[in-house]
Parts: sequence; structure tokens; C-alpha cells
Amino acid sequence: MSQLDRTSGYFREDLETMPWAEKKAYLDGKLREIVQYAYGHAKAFKEKLDSVGLEPDDIETIEDLEKIPVTKKADLVEYQKKDFPFGGFVGVPVEELRRIYVSPGPIYEPGEREYDEIAWTQGLYAGGFRPGDFAVNTFNYHMMPFAMNMVDNSLNMLGCITVPTGVGNTELQVNILKNLKVTGFCGTPSFLLTIAEKAEEMGLDLRRDFNLKVAFVAAEMLPESLRKTLEDKFGIILRQSYGTADIGSLGYECMEKNGMHLPDDKIVEIVDPQTGRQLPPGETGEIVATAFNKTYPLIRFGTGDLSYLIDEPCPCGRTSPRLVGILGRTDQLTKVRGVFVHPGQADEVARRYSNIAAYRVLVTREKDQDIMTFQVELKDEQVDKEKLKEDLQNTIRDVMKVRGDVEFIPQGTIPEGGKKIEDKRTWD
Ligand SMILES: [Zn+2]
Repeated sequence: MSQLDRTSGYFREDLETMPWAEKKAYLDGKLREIVQYAYGHAKAFKEKLDSVGLEPDDIETIEDLEKIPVTKKADLVEYQKKDFPFGGFVGVPVEELRRIYVSPGPIYEPGEREYDEIAWTQGLYAGGFRPGDFAVNTFNYHMMPFAMNMVDNSLNMLGCITVPTGVGNTELQVNILKNLKVTGFCGTPSFLLTIAEKAEEMGLDLRRDFNLKVAFVAAEMLPESLRKTLEDKFGIILRQSYGTADIGSLGYECMEKNGMHLPDDKIVEIVDPQTGRQLPPGETGEIVATAFNKTYPLIRFGTGDLSYLIDEPCPCGRTSPRLVGILGRTDQLTKVRGVFVHPGQADEVARRYSNIAAYRVLVTREKDQDIMTFQVELKDEQVDKEKLKEDLQNTIRDVMKVRGDVEFIPQGTIPEGGKKIEDKRTWD
């Protein structure tokens, strides 16, 4: 195993390297199939199409999805109250289910007998996992489908040997990693850090005493600094995937670490959260996804997470566009002159200037015009403020896609823990 190539190749080369036009046609075909199926088998989906006067034949391509109202997580809870237990979002008779999962909400989720989602496995492979890896699955096995169904089955699909450790028992986990010479870790980045600290406390050397090669993380934000710490400590490759327990994986990192490739068994749209209209690459909106799962046909499921798509080619050879990362939640969005702005963008602007001590964005309205002002406290006041102001204004336009004024204010003006985007507009 010493020469094992973990950094190239594909889990599904046919799909992952398929030219985008061809893949689009492939996804359109899968979409037509699931729409026809769900209309005939999932009561809630039929009602949804009927409510907007659509027939399944009206949905032929990804663009047509715009016509279908988005279903949010909160909607699922409401549907389930009315129609026990799945709110009509189930595509097979209940007696054909393998399990019923319970996600926070609570939301009851129908579990298929034969797991065939490839998206997480694509992510494991792209992140360096290979057949024969011994992998600990430290996600929570109880109730929710993620660890037990998605990760467990995906490791199996790839040909890895899973140690179903679940969460907690840190000292025992350290011993398992060491004694079984585990090569792969699946879990949250913060739990891997906890394991590292525990092992060091036990006097172990993270590189010499362990055989860890790869880590697959999800379910948590991954700061680059934490990735680097963990990769350096263990001498491993650490990559993340993104998804939800309802619909599965919606993106995975490759070796390039330049965003998360869309998997090939979902349709992922970025939409205006108010209108449900699709947004082009580069524009921030809500991640809305459609899976081809006949047991649990979720069509246009709104995640509530914000991102945008990058469609420049990736050096890894995969042709799917990439999600840039998770930028926040839809409830943090503010619209300025018709463009959504959110705290993640403001952070990005501030991150590019080492002299910024604190900042906030004010949105006001004068003469029926929205005004966005980026207020900045400087660490060092002895700078060319005119030049800095001009640079900042350019960065704001690049990152936030809307023009903004810059105002320098004295240190200590911005209250700690206050809102990053303060909307002061009044509407009367
Ligand atoms: Zn790539």
C-alpha cells in the first residue's frame, strides 16, 4: 500500500469528466424521470405541481425547475403534521422501507432498502480514500441518516473497511486509530482536533504512532487554518464535503481545494431566495437541490444555505461546477439595490486588509435610494486614507457586487457582538 496513489483518478470517471453539455443532457433526463415518478407516487409532490397548474411533462430541463415552488425544511415539518409520517414525500409504500430516520425538527425520513447515492463516495474518492482503507466513522449513528446510512454505505461502496465508532469516547478512539492502524478518518474537523489533543496528552506521536493518511470531514465549517493544523499534525490529506441529512451530498472538494464539485446524482441550483429564480455563476443565493431518490423524492429542496457557483474548469479534470463554500444562511441576507448582500461577503472584504480592526455595514435609504456604507475602524490611523478608501471601494464592488461608501470611524465605536450588516432602512 506504500505506493498507493491518493491524489489522482476518479470514482466515476465517465460521469466526472463528461463534457458539461453532455452532463447537462444526462441530468435533464434524470430530472424528467424523477419528476414523472414522484408525480405518480409521492402525494405531496403531485399536490405541489397541481397547485401551480403544472403537469410532469412541463418539466423537461433544469431551467424548467424554476416553475416549481421550493420546499423548505420548515415546510417538511408542517407537511408531516398534516400527513403522518412523511408528509406525502415518500415514493414507495411504507412497508418497503428499511428504516425511518429522525432528523432535528423533528423530521421523519424514509430510508431506502438499497442505498445507491454516489455523491458522498465521489467525495471520499476525490479526498484520497481508496479501497482497502480502514476507516473510522465518528459521525453520530443514532436516529439521523448521515453516519449510519450515508457515510457507512458510501465507505462500503468504495471498498473501505468501516469501524463504526460514532462520536465520543475520545481515548478509546485514539486507541482504535493506533491499534487498528486506521488509515481514514470520517468526522467533524473539531472532533479530529480533539482526538489529536487527547493523543498528544497520552504521550503519542501523531505521525509515528498512527497510520492516518486521509480525513473526510463534513457537518461543520472548516477554516483553512484548522485544515492546515490537522494536515500538518497527522501528515494527512483532509478534504470536506457538504450536504444535508435530508438530501445527501451536494458538493465535495478535490485535491485542488478550490470549491466543492457538484456530485452527479443531484441537481444543484443557486436561486434568489425570495423568488426562487435561478442565478448565474458568481451570484450568491440559496442552495436548492433535487435528488433522484425514488424512496424520498425531494424536488427543489431549499437548504437555507448560501453560496455561489464557479464554472471555470478545474485542473483536476472534473467538469462539474463548484460551490464556493457556505457563505451563511438565507435569514442573514439583506437586499441592497436589488442585490443580495450577506455577512460572509463583508468578512471577505475585511479579510483582505490587515489594517482593519473592526467593521460593520450600514444600509440606509435616502431619496428612495439604498445606500450601503462600510464603516471601518483601523488598527493604525497613520495611513493614506484616500488610497485605502479607493482600494476598499473596489474590493467591495468585486466581492459584494454592489457599490458601497467607506467611512473611517474611531476605534471602539462598533459594539462587540453587534450585527455585521445593520439594516437601518424604514419603509412607510
Ligand atoms: Zn477539481
